[in-house]
Amino acid sequence: MTTTVTVFGSCNMDLVAYAGTAPSRGETVLGREFRTAPGGKGANQALAAAKAGAAVRMVGAVGEDEFGAELRANLADSTVDVSGLRTVPGRSGTAHIVVDDSGDNSIVIVPAANAAVQGLVEGDEALLASSSCVLLQLETPLDGVAEAAAAGRRHGVRVVLTPAPAAPLPAELLSNVDLLVPNEHEAAVLTGHDDPHRALAALLELVPEVVITLGARGSLYGTRQGEVVEVPGFPVRAVDTTAAGDTFVGMLATALGEGVAMPEALRLASAASALSVQRIGASGSMPSRPEIEAFLT
Ligand code: ADP
Repeated sequence: MTTTVTVFGSCNMDLVAYAGTAPSRGETVLGREFRTAPGGKGANQALAAAKAGAAVRMVGAVGEDEFGAELRANLADSTVDVSGLRTVPGRSGTAHIVVDDSGDNSIVIVPAANAAVQGLVEGDEALLASSSCVLLQLETPLDGVAEAAAAGRRHGVRVVLTPAPAAPLPAELLSNVDLLVPNEHEAAVLTGHDDPHRALAALLELVPEVVITLGARGSLYGTRQGEVVEVPGFPVRAVDTTAAGDTFVGMLATALGEGVAMPEALRLASAASALSVQRIGASGSMPSRPEIEAFLT
């Protein structure tokens, strides 16, 4: 059974410069290579869910520039329905990334068109209402995210929030979230606990279900009813962990929408993200469902 997922969130063009060392304040350094790549947490989650086999709709905004056209085409080429992706005056969102030789990066994000995603516009609610799940992140204005969560709740749609970049979350938004999926860092920022089990317990006071992703160590799931599932990471050689979390969430939401039980959905999500970290890039690195299934057999 194909499930339908709506993603409400950001689209960015990643502008990546590779240099031996990142420049310090006031310094100019020579770079080795420059690449552009479609990104943004919203678009990444949409692509991951589409590759995982869901029918996906993207709600968000791009600018009138050439990046906007490219971001839209990249989603559409991957079967994502872009009828809810608006084109607004001005520039598309961009992420300006410097990657140094040790693989560390520093990033400046300019939201641009993403700042226009301030709530639902005509047609968005119908897209949400006919979905099994809505995926939210925090790269678009908080009021809009809260409105999408409220609409999801109203229509009985599972509301999944990736709280990235980490920010204090209003109680009203949290009251409409079914499943929160922070990484370890975000969980620590939200709760003040570095220990994932303590962070999990604190987050379960805010929302009914939580998955904390733990990088190479896997993930930790818990419910308010006291169920806890620890999913070990697959031992793979990681070359680029960009969008690992987004790949995880895209597969997880797709599997849950199909009616797969949580432990198996987590295993699929873990496999999808383990495959993605073995490949360079974000949107090009997401595995297809047959690849994920084959990895697990
Ligand atoms: P984010 O990308 O949001 O920072 P994580 O780094 O926690 O999130 O990664 C998300 C998921 O991707 C993890 O739960 C794990 O399943 C998988 N993953 C990440 N890094 C690795 C790795 N080095 N080896 C295997 N799996 C990984």
